[in-house]
Amino acid sequence: MALERLLKGFADFRLGYYREHLDLFEKLAKEGQSPKILIVACADARVDPGILTQTQPGDIFTVRNVAAMVPPAQFPPDTRHHGTSAAIEFAVRGLGVEHVVILGHALCGGIGALVDGRDGVYADYDYLATWTSIAQEARDLVVRELKGRPREEIARAVEQAAVLGSVNNLMTFRWIADRVAAGTLVVHAWWFNMNEGQLHAFNPANALFEPVLGVTVEATVRQSTALSSISPERFVAAVAGKKPAF
Ligand SMILES: [Zn+2]
Repeated sequence: MALERLLKGFADFRLGYYREHLDLFEKLAKEGQSPKILIVACADARVDPGILTQTQPGDIFTVRNVAAMVPPAQFPPDTRHHGTSAAIEFAVRGLGVEHVVILGHALCGGIGALVDGRDGVYADYDYLATWTSIAQEARDLVVRELKGRPREEIARAVEQAAVLGSVNNLMTFRWIADRVAAGTLVVHAWWFNMNEGQLHAFNPANALFEPVLGVTVEATVRQSTALSSISPERFVAAVAGKKPAF
């Protein structure tokens, strides 16, 4: 039974990990959390940021939603329930994180639904299409520019272009744009390929996502990087210029 497995897992955690890290938990309980990194990741059960990065409790503040998306800022704020924006605000303004990582991934169901359009298998869902339409522009751009390429390649490009779109949306929050301009906050665009177990980061120099294992990870957005260099348009043009990957 799935739930029994959870309880067995907790028993193992309590006797193992918790005991081994008792000092850490006591410190976190006493002093509170002070993570330096915010990760916006997908709710997909296969891409747990804490496991992928082998971090410890207290290391990363995590927001998970469908397709790892950041909506544009609503300003002035209204009375709707902006869950992702509220979590980002707390991490940036309350906790003062120094890095924000947008972590997309391969075979993303949310992006797949967006690629297939509103008439797909989720057509009667109440919320999904509206949420994923955050990346509608990126999707339309990729579909137009990569016309004729295999669906897998188009979906991958939309997954990555959506990450860049979320980076741009992050910059619409004034308290993020101000800190990036001040050099106290750095934004990163990452994409995890679960087929290969490889992490890719966006490289502003060639506008493509590249494997990071064994190489220095350059931040996507920091004070010295022109924001125009991370546009989804430039990325899609770079992908379109490459020979098909599949
Ligand atoms: Zn996903």
